[in-house]
Amino acid sequence: MSEEPRRVDPIARLIQAFGRLPGVGEKSATRLAFFVLRQGSAFAEDLSQALLDATQRIGLCERCMNLTDQPQCSICLDARRDGTVLCVVETVQDLRAIERSREFQGRYHVLHGALAPLEGVGPEDLKIKELLARLQGIDAGVEELIIATNPSVEGEATALYLQRLIAGAGLKVSRIASGLPIGGDFEYADPATISQALSGRRQMNS
Ligand SMILES: [Zn+2]
Repeated sequence: MSEEPRRVDPIARLIQAFGRLPGVGEKSATRLAFFVLRQGSAFAEDLSQALLDATQRIGLCERCMNLTDQPQCSICLDARRDGTVLCVVETVQDLRAIERSREFQGRYHVLHGALAPLEGVGPEDLKIKELLARLQGIDAGVEELIIATNPSVEGEATALYLQRLIAGAGLKVSRIASGLPIGGDFEYADPATISQALSGRRQMNS
């Protein structure tokens, strides 16, 4: 046998790369790969540039932990937003779902997850320190915290943890109404459901 270095077939590599995307099985990965090949190099350049730009330029908003290509995201910078209400969500996708409903005029805080002790996710793994820092700093004017974590075991545990942590800080802490299916994701809820969940929120502390 020759000692020639093993060459990876570029088509196989492309199929493999697409196959790493969530929800894309081998069949879909193959279809995507051949689609890209048919489009030619201008399309590929455009696509790879978009991927690079997004991954290299986008970071976390220093205030709310949303994704942005600026130090602060456009929601935090928008002076028309209500600075007295903060909506706490698990993910950026949840934030975007709530924004789509156009129900909420305040600002957000993205935790980047929910407490899951069995999976080793504790408070220090979430953006909780950052939440406390902004409530004592740039967002000291916040009067109400709406906890909009998912209605799952993890989401409820996170809501309770935050309520206990913040109790006594003179803030109203409320929980969105359980209009969402149990274990259901915010991300996939329709705007009307999100709107009902927000307007039906109940206070957790008194
Ligand atoms: Zn922000």
